[in-house]
Amino acid sequence: MDLKFFKSDRNLSLLEENDTQHRFLQPVWDLRLGFEDWMTSPLFPVFLSVGFYFLCNIPYTIVDLYFQDFEIVKRFKIQPEKRVTWPMMRKAILKTLYNNLVFIMPTMIAQWIWVPPTPFPRLAPKFYDFAYQSVAMMMIFDFQYWFWHMVHHRNRWLYKNFHAIHHQYHATFGWTTQYLHPWELVTVGFFTTIDGWFFECHPMTYWCFMLLNVGMSVEAHSGYDLPIFPHKWLPIYGGGPKHDMHHMKPLTNYQPFFSTWDRLFGWDCPGISGGGVKGKRLLAWEERRRGQRINKHATELMGGTENGELVPDKEKKRN
Ligand SMILES: [Zn+2]
Ligand SMILES: [Zn+2]
Repeated sequence: MDLKFFKSDRNLSLLEENDTQHRFLQPVWDLRLGFEDWMTSPLFPVFLSVGFYFLCNIPYTIVDLYFQDFEIVKRFKIQPEKRVTWPMMRKAILKTLYNNLVFIMPTMIAQWIWVPPTPFPRLAPKFYDFAYQSVAMMMIFDFQYWFWHMVHHRNRWLYKNFHAIHHQYHATFGWTTQYLHPWELVTVGFFTTIDGWFFECHPMTYWCFMLLNVGMSVEAHSGYDLPIFPHKWLPIYGGGPKHDMHHMKPLTNYQPFFSTWDRLFGWDCPGISGGGVKGKRLLAWEERRRGQRINKHATELMGGTENGELVPDKEKKRN
């Protein structure tokens, strides 16, 4: 990820000379002092994002490995009957490490060699800029990925060659978030990078957007429906239940975070709630579609069965 989009040093010093206001976020931004040599490196955003991805997954991993049979845990699990095992996790973790080492690291090392470190601004971002830019970047990313995702499901060649790998898991768990074809990982990295360019945003705003993106993606794949998750209080937010439904019925819920575009185009499907409970809206959705003929192409994109239950590629070949 390139840091060149941050405002140039000369422009910043001109702006900062006239700005004597106290910045609400200054104490947070000042935490960088003493670490700037390391933080201005083009490698920093990658370590931050990969490190945060592993950090977000730790609590889900512990719960899935040691507590998934506890009644209290099952009450919040979207598909309580599906077990998450260590070999499943190990496969997904190794894939993430492989993708990062083989495809992301060489790009970062090239940047490290050829792109000079970018000096940081002295002042923190204004709170208003920080808040609106973070939200705006999330919404832009949500639209970009929605379109990419929809096209990669509706085109058979794109699905088979690039996106199908992510759908090898019928029920999601944290580590499935980055179980991706390298093309998908590179596209996600590209969208994340250019979204920062749109606003010439402050490094702190950009990093926050990156971390939010990682945290929300892991939450969407966690397989849990917890009362603290945003979809409980933000009706346009999709979250875990909707993305888990996307892995069960892959021709629905293409948006990674929100549900606005899917609703507009009729691709929205209500998710299953914690404890495997089907709500009224989901039952009504299923009733409306009962008996509808699904063409062969759509059936194939749903994993080969008419109810959208996916069968891993290897098992499909054996049948
Ligand atoms: Zn997914
Ligand atoms: Zn998909």
